[in-house]
Amino acid sequence: MRFCIVGAGFSGAIIARHLSEKGHKVLLLDERSHIAGNCHTERDDKTGVMVHRYGPHIFHTADERAWSYIQRFGKFRPYINRVKAISQGRIYTLPVNLLTINQFFGTVMSPVEARAFIEKKADKSIKDPKNFEEQALSMIGPELYKAFFYGYTRKQWGLEPTELPASILKRLPLRFNYDDNYFNHPYQGMPEDGYSAIVENILKSENIEIRLNTKFEDVSEEFQHIFYTGPIDRYFSFDLGRLGYRTLDFERIDGDGDYQGAAVINYCDQEVPFTRISEHKHFAPWEADSLQKTVAFREYSRLAEPKDVPYYPIRLANEKTMLESYITRARNTAGVSFLGRLGTYRYLDMDVTISEALKACDQIDQLLAANAPL
Ligand code: FAD
Ligand code: UDP
Repeated sequence: MRFCIVGAGFSGAIIARHLSEKGHKVLLLDERSHIAGNCHTERDDKTGVMVHRYGPHIFHTADERAWSYIQRFGKFRPYINRVKAISQGRIYTLPVNLLTINQFFGTVMSPVEARAFIEKKADKSIKDPKNFEEQALSMIGPELYKAFFYGYTRKQWGLEPTELPASILKRLPLRFNYDDNYFNHPYQGMPEDGYSAIVENILKSENIEIRLNTKFEDVSEEFQHIFYTGPIDRYFSFDLGRLGYRTLDFERIDGDGDYQGAAVINYCDQEVPFTRISEHKHFAPWEADSLQKTVAFREYSRLAEPKDVPYYPIRLANEKTMLESYITRARNTAGVSFLGRLGTYRYLDMDVTISEALKACDQIDQLLAANAPL
């Protein structure tokens, strides 16, 4: 009997590849018309730009295994994400670094001076930050928080930052030098031919049948085991309720030449309805100058309705309780393993997604070797 994998994103593709290499037959389903899940990239007909259909994706990691794995399937070009941010009519660089601090406060402080200056601004009465706002106030003080984080976060999450976990802000570095690299990770890059080409190479195997435009719910075959990378609540027909997600609307901007001169500009003021504009040719700087036309996308965030693409898991207290119940259900469901961003309802970067899928492959090997159920 074949294995079934639901979802052709990185999670599903890596499991499919592994099983096929071990000589197993696999049916890989996706309800979309393409592979690569949310990392899908495609050449835009009108401009020739490699577009990241579900929002910009930059590969960054400290995980050697994930980095060497992905490079087996396509060439990566060096790419450093350098984000600009507009706040109150002025433009800065993010993450908050010495240039941001000096420009914002109109100073020319050295690293040591800036550190002492921000330490004075930081709220020392907050010893153990309980939410996003407390984390920000205890780290950078009220002025930088209001200018760069309050409005953006309200727009991105539709909630007061006091209602959000501190962990969301901990994703971003704070630097007292002029390094404006958005990420701290040692390995960063962009696939030369896009992410979909990488996933296509992962899936090259006679043992894998790929069936697109197919919902798992419409498949009635029997399988040896199912690896499910779709939304966990959807698998159980939402019968314990729906886990909350934010979704994104992208508004296309067409232009000639260069629209904004950078890949990503964040709009931090609450009065501007979108969060950021991404101009995708700048994610491929090696070819950007040769493209006459350009395309950029304004990004609007809102609460997902049932028909929308689920992007960011909200994970507030009520979702966490519901998730626990679904996880208990999942553990008691024989013959199905839940994986990936939607299957575990967590915000996972691509490198973590890959790393977790590779660990799942190790487990599969151990269980198959012991003839134990997966
Ligand atoms: P997905 O890519 O979501 O794949 C799941 C697939 O399952 C989908 O194709 C879906 O159609 C299919 N599916 C679901 N249910 C069913 C069903 N019932 N039947 C059939 N098919 C089904 N990570 C980074 O490292 N760097 C970034 O810069 C970055 N930027 C991001 C920007 C945005 C806006 C978002 C939302 C995420 C970003 N990520 C980034 C995270 C990245 O997208 C994920 O790590 C990755 O997509 C997870 O892969 P996955 O296979 O688990 O899930
Ligand atoms: N954030 C912000 N202002 C910015 C950029 C980020 O307030 O200009 C906050 C926002 O709440 C966001 C979080 O920091 O969700 C993490 O930022 P990141 O760039 O990692 O967001 P993602 O890539 O998940 O969209």
